[in-house]
Amino acid sequence: MFERVEILGVKVDALTMAQAVEKIESLISEKKSSLVATANAEMLMRATEDEELKKILNSAELVTADGAGTVWAAHHLGKNMPERVAGYDLVQEIMKISPKKSWKIFLFGAAPTIAEKAKLKAEELYPNIKIVGVRNGYFSAEDEPEIISQIKKSQPDILLAALGVPKQEKWLYAHKDELKVPVSIGVGGTFDVMAGVVKRAPLWMQKAKLEWLFRAMLQPSRAGRLIALPKFVLKVVMSKSSEG
Ligand code: UDP
Repeated sequence: MFERVEILGVKVDALTMAQAVEKIESLISEKKSSLVATANAEMLMRATEDEELKKILNSAELVTADGAGTVWAAHHLGKNMPERVAGYDLVQEIMKISPKKSWKIFLFGAAPTIAEKAKLKAEELYPNIKIVGVRNGYFSAEDEPEIISQIKKSQPDILLAALGVPKQEKWLYAHKDELKVPVSIGVGGTFDVMAGVVKRAPLWMQKAKLEWLFRAMLQPSRAGRLIALPKFVLKVVMSKSSEG
């Protein structure tokens, strides 16, 4: 068992990328219907105002520290958090080893054609990968039975859902028992990046922990979401002082 660090009421697993991949491997072999979430500062902030999301995250089999903010928060609280395990990177690691493991992957989410493009990219990057199905993430309630049956028919080992936070977590949780996919992961904007529609920050910016700034510059519509970061820092600092 890994240590779980509670940040603003959400328990985040203190593990490295390699350990997260190992954990996913064991969840796949258990064949239970596990949920994996990657928690960045924005998600943790949202969970403070969304009890349902908080409950789902705390019931998830694995919650990784996605982003410098989450790692910082754990350290500020005096806890161990070995490294950042971002959703996009986790997906790449899983895809990389999936041909060897014969894992079947389903891509669900993002705008029409994006998941298909992400599939092509994955097939180019990871020869022999088995992407067994794709479905865009724009649907109404009436479409859901058809989406669920499409996913079930293709029998994936891993379901990657890119519907944004908290829609992806809530959708995966609501349909978990019905879908019976061993591992489902909410992956946010991962397909957009893989399809080349949204660019990932250059490595130097990632290393300088400035990925959030890059995303805000590229998609000004997201800039408003940046306010979540200072709010998050303040809340974590306050949660620590109220502890002591
Ligand atoms: N999306 C979707 N269905 C929706 C709303 C959003 O498939 O109803 C997709 C959107 O096209 C994008 C992803 O969900 O590909 C969310 O990306 P974002 O970077 O905003 O993720 P977050 O920051 O919420 O993790």
